[in-house]
Amino acid sequence: MSTFRSHALQQTATRKPVKVEELDRKSIIFGSNVFNDKAMRQFLTPEAYKAVQSAVQHGTKIDRKLADYIAMGMKEWALAKGVTHYTHWFQPLTGATAEKHDAFFETSYDGTDPVEKFGGSQLVQQEPDASSFPNGGIRNTFEARGYTAWDPTSPAFIYGTTLCIPTVFVSYTGEALDYKTPLLRALSAIDEAATDVCRYFDKNVKKVTATLGWEQEYFLVDSALANSRPDITLTGRTLLGHTSAKGQQLEDHYFGSIPTRVLNYMRDLENECMLLGIPVKTRHNEVAPNQFELAPIFEETNLAVDHNSLLMDVMQKVAERHDFKVLFHEKPFKGVNGSGKHNNWSLATDTGVNLLGPGKTPMSNLQFLAFFINTIKAVYTNEELMRASIATATNDHRLGANEAPPAIISVFIGQQLTKVLAELEGVSSGKLSPEEKTDLKLNVVGKIPDVLLDNTDRNRTSPFAFTGNKFEFRAVGSSANCANAMTIVNTIVAKQLKDFKKEVDALIDEKGMKKDDAIFNVLREYIKETKAILFEGDGYSDAWEQEAAKRGLSNFKTTPSALKAKVSAQSLALFEEMNVMNHVEAEARYEIELEEYTKKIQIEGRVLGDIARNHVVPTAIRYQNILIENVRGLKEIFGKEFENIGKEQITLIREISGHIAGINTKVEEMTEARKNANNLGSAEEMAHAYCDTVKPFFDVIRDHCDKLELLVDDEIWTLTKYRELLFTR
Ligand code: ADP
Ligand code: MG
Repeated sequence: MSTFRSHALQQTATRKPVKVEELDRKSIIFGSNVFNDKAMRQFLTPEAYKAVQSAVQHGTKIDRKLADYIAMGMKEWALAKGVTHYTHWFQPLTGATAEKHDAFFETSYDGTDPVEKFGGSQLVQQEPDASSFPNGGIRNTFEARGYTAWDPTSPAFIYGTTLCIPTVFVSYTGEALDYKTPLLRALSAIDEAATDVCRYFDKNVKKVTATLGWEQEYFLVDSALANSRPDITLTGRTLLGHTSAKGQQLEDHYFGSIPTRVLNYMRDLENECMLLGIPVKTRHNEVAPNQFELAPIFEETNLAVDHNSLLMDVMQKVAERHDFKVLFHEKPFKGVNGSGKHNNWSLATDTGVNLLGPGKTPMSNLQFLAFFINTIKAVYTNEELMRASIATATNDHRLGANEAPPAIISVFIGQQLTKVLAELEGVSSGKLSPEEKTDLKLNVVGKIPDVLLDNTDRNRTSPFAFTGNKFEFRAVGSSANCANAMTIVNTIVAKQLKDFKKEVDALIDEKGMKKDDAIFNVLREYIKETKAILFEGDGYSDAWEQEAAKRGLSNFKTTPSALKAKVSAQSLALFEEMNVMNHVEAEARYEIELEEYTKKIQIEGRVLGDIARNHVVPTAIRYQNILIENVRGLKEIFGKEFENIGKEQITLIREISGHIAGINTKVEEMTEARKNANNLGSAEEMAHAYCDTVKPFFDVIRDHCDKLELLVDDEIWTLTKYRELLFTR
């Protein structure tokens, strides 16, 4: 073998686990590269410190003079740690994070007086040359430039020798061009709506924070092997490759002992996370070979989203030191499980109460039930939008593939809570009698903490499951920015809580009901209305698809069809009402996501065509020539008898020709389909055309290639095989 593949395999044969430098205890190093409370107290004047605190807690503006002082303190802190550059760090709609580094270093115009400088204006605002970030036409129609603005709710941090300042990215007319801006608006909406509802139960609540604990799944592939595959390099997944004889069927990888090379990578990564203040806690092997997972302690949502984006970047960088490549793609390999990113979500008050955790008194449990049932109602009303929030070309491979939730959104709540809801459904209309109330308090609302303790039924097939003290949105893709899903969840629940408050107030003011009577009455109606969204059974089954259709639940199997819900009249009105996005922003995002879909399929189509024709076909021909040579030799030696002796070889020669012909015609037809799709007028038409007329060729072409892989001599096969990608570690 003298191919790229064989070089790669030789390289991996001598790999040793990379030694990891031991750092101090986690609790000591945690956050030492973050401009956190401790650093701020040390490096900021009391006024500057107060200004940041008030901006974080109450969203107050920081004036220019104080910004100068904050910048000065931040610079001193960073310089003391050997930092040379700073950057505004943001999350444009490309899915990756973006940064443009500037040195602190400055001189006067004649090159004298060298000095390290960083002022309030550089901290607060920057104008990256942002014309090539996706904007869905916003910047063409409005104003050519975009700018980044400091988000003080997420602390600055040092990565390498660069001070990174988390920022939002908006156009000059104020339209959001990133993931963070709508998320911050959604978080503010849920704060307001949830705080209002909390005050029925506790007048001391002044702020409600949405919390997020994500779980990140990923694959590790040796970097030499990954680089030997053009499909992994360019698309993040394998577009072809015959499945390995051994895959995950023995179930020997899940929670198995972690290979040393990988463990050292994880330890190195965890050290970096500690320095950056990312509170990672768990690590383990996942189901597929070379698949792993890590999860942090949950945090406030904005910070958790930033930490996940930062983590994905850090994971790739640390992997380089260990000769690994991280695959975040939802389905890097056919035939074994793909990867997801569970988003555990809840709401917490500034008085320290988890609103989705049952409490100790009947009143706090009524509060729990109010938030619990309102969340179910929000999902029921907006199930299509929830589906849209997780729709990407890459996640399409996973949803409904019997390893991840289906493309149907439903809510799992477990047996005990199902019973509680059934009892609440029987509450009388209007004013409740004292006896009924006592009974409810003692036997229904009062019992919740006990029942949840032994609520162990966990349904892995549900896309949105209640897991004791939080909801878990499981259908989010492993490569996604969590902001997308979290913006939607928080927006729909905020809207629902707002409506709930209105209805309860109306019963109190107009019908003269007592507060708890009113709450019981409204919740009872919600339980009746939203039954269709609750599902406790096997989400992977065909029976559920049929049942869900009967219930009128949507089942969008592809991204172009799923995305449409983002711009439905209902969604646009929702975004406007909750101040999350105006219709220009929402429509721009729809356009951007369609374009991204098209581009991804387009790239995959090109790469597949290239590999099939320029790697697979030539290799097949080379092997076919060896066979032909062999048959010719047999004929020379045996004369007429060769037909019998060389029968198998002749069959192989024919089979190979058949697959080569298949590849050539299908690649040509696919190219033609791409051309036709490219000529369509709108982003919507193009995305649908790519989905319906280009993508179907992938499986057919792959099938021919994978069959050839089985026929051709392993020695001359140029593409690194599945068993090598999945079992080298
Ligand atoms: P699993 O779902 O894998 O069984 P756990 O239930 O222990 O594991 O928790 C999974 C994730 O849920 C963790 O990342 C954790 O930080 C997060 N989590 C726990 N409580 C909350 C909460 N109140 N809000 C948000 N996330 C939470
Ligand atoms: Mg989980």
